[in-house]
Amino acid sequence: MLKYFSNCISLFYPPYCNGCGNVLVAEEKYLCFSCLKSLPRTDFHTCKDNPLEMVFAGRVPICRATAFCFFRKGNMVQHLIHQLKYNGNQEIGVYLGRQFGLELIQLGVFQSVDIIVPIPLHFKKLKRRGYNQSEKIGKGMIEVMPKPLDSSSLIRVTDTSTQTKKERFQRWENVLDIFQLTRTDLLAGKHILLIDDVITTGATTESAAQLLLTLPAVKVSIACIGYAGS
Ligand SMILES: [Zn+2]
Repeated sequence: MLKYFSNCISLFYPPYCNGCGNVLVAEEKYLCFSCLKSLPRTDFHTCKDNPLEMVFAGRVPICRATAFCFFRKGNMVQHLIHQLKYNGNQEIGVYLGRQFGLELIQLGVFQSVDIIVPIPLHFKKLKRRGYNQSEKIGKGMIEVMPKPLDSSSLIRVTDTSTQTKKERFQRWENVLDIFQLTRTDLLAGKHILLIDDVITTGATTESAAQLLLTLPAVKVSIACIGYAGS
């Protein structure tokens, strides 16, 4: 009965692909198969010293880093991340996280990860947006990767959204006190997978990784949906 009503609703309000705008068929969700297949994947997880790992090389001793897709001006990934961050479409984050997780599982990447930690938002920004986009990505990932998601042990104490116009050096000084740890016992001794939505210079992610690495016997890896570097 429920399916009948859902089919009726789809008839009058068919779901559209967030990529190309075509009507989705029953098995498709958020993106049509064609758009899902055409996402500009980085395949960074298949190679050591990939471009994202090189972003952090010499800055912070992480284990591995990878990105699901390339984030470029005007590409589909930029459009989807925009939907996720500024149009309230939080399900896109869960969807992208799940697709990313499926790919990582199939390749056996991050098997030694113990816990997934999303990069937190400052509480003011969280209040404005209503959700943390990186946490949504993490939620999608744990649907297919059997790992715990910890969204409360790492918190953001500095709102950096007003700092985007400053020079990188000035930003770096502030970046050191962006985050704080609330529950060190939950993270000590663990291999932590830090989740971010988009990484460009990596400064914020690096700051979180530096702080986590002050805990005893911690290893940090990094995964993001969009790699915006060159
Ligand atoms: Zn499409």
